[in-house]
Amino acid sequence: MADKANKVENNVDGAYYVDKECIGCGMCHEVAGKYFVMDDTAGVAYVAEQPKDEEGTVLCVEAMNSCPVEAIGDDGAAA
Ligand code: SF4
Repeated sequence: MADKANKVENNVDGAYYVDKECIGCGMCHEVAGKYFVMDDTAGVAYVAEQPKDEEGTVLCVEAMNSCPVEAIGDDGAAA
């Protein structure tokens, strides 16, 4: 389970985040590339934009569920 005390540097503020367990597989970017972007220097993904509608939320949940190491979290904060 993702840990909000262990977030990667570049996440924008809001509910969804990537933590440092990320192995940089790129799956979240494949699923929801508008929201999850790869930081090629650090070798991890980060949340570049929070979803603002139902469609975006569905994509972010799908990305979260597709992460093989559970590095994506939703802390329930307002987007
Ligand atoms: S799916 Fe998970 S491990 Fe893969 S890049 Fe995204 S956050 Fe990292």
